[in-house]
Amino acid sequence: MEKGCDDVTIIHMGKNQVMGIYMYDPDDLIALSALQHIVFCERQCALIHIEQVWSENLQTAEGRILHEKAHSDDEDARGGVRIKYGMPLRSLRLGLVGVADVVEFHRDKTCPGGWRPFPVEYKRGRSKKLDCDRVQLCAQAMCLEEMMGLDVPCGALFYGKTRRREDVILDDTLREETRNAALKVHELILSGKTPGPVYKKRCESCSLIDTCMPKTMGKRRSVKSFMKRMVDDNEETS
Ligand code: SF4
Repeated sequence: MEKGCDDVTIIHMGKNQVMGIYMYDPDDLIALSALQHIVFCERQCALIHIEQVWSENLQTAEGRILHEKAHSDDEDARGGVRIKYGMPLRSLRLGLVGVADVVEFHRDKTCPGGWRPFPVEYKRGRSKKLDCDRVQLCAQAMCLEEMMGLDVPCGALFYGKTRRREDVILDDTLREETRNAALKVHELILSGKTPGPVYKKRCESCSLIDTCMPKTMGKRRSVKSFMKRMVDDNEETS
C-alpha cells in the first residue's frame, strides 16, 4: 500500500514496517467517525463504511439532532472562551477527515497565539466503558494538532442523556489506541471484507441490529462453519 504526500519524505519497508513520517494521500482519507464505529464493533464499521448500510433509529435520530444543534452557529464567545462550531478537520498522518461539533479556544499564554483548542464532542446517551467516544475525541485533537501545530492535551465529551460533560485527558495510551484504530479502519476498508456477526451485549444498543441479525446470522455461521469443519475432517481421514 503506497501512500504519498507532496511535502514529506516517506520511507516504506513493507506494508507494516514504516520508517520516517507516514502520510496518507488526500484521496485516501476516511471519515473520522469510523474510529468510533471500529472500536464499538468491526462489523458495524464495515457495514457502514464498506457496504454503505445505515439505519436510523430513535437513538441515531436523537444523536443527529444533538449534532445539528451543535453545528447550528459558526462562532460564539462566552466568558473568555471562543467557540467554533462545525470545524472541518483533517489529518494526513492518521488518514482522517471530518468535522468537529465544537472546538473551544481557551486563553493560554503558553500557547502560540494565546488560545489553545479544546474539542468537545456531543453524544446522545451516557458515558461508556468502551473507549469508542474517547478515541473519536482524541482523533479530533490529533487532527487539530496537525493542522494548527499546537499541543491539544485535553477535550470533553457532552452526553445528552445525562446532560453531563466529561473532561478527557488525551494521554499517550489513548493516542496509541487512536492511531491503532485509524490503521485498523484503513486495513478493513482496503480489505473490502465485512466480518461476520458475533452477538454481544452491546448489540442491543446498535442501530444496525435489524440488518446485522447477530443472533440468527451468528448461529447460522456457526452451523455453516461446523459443517465445513466436518467435511474437511472427513476429507482428511478418507
Ligand atoms: S448488531 Fe452487534 S455484531 Fe452486528 S453490527 Fe451491531 S454491534 Fe456489531
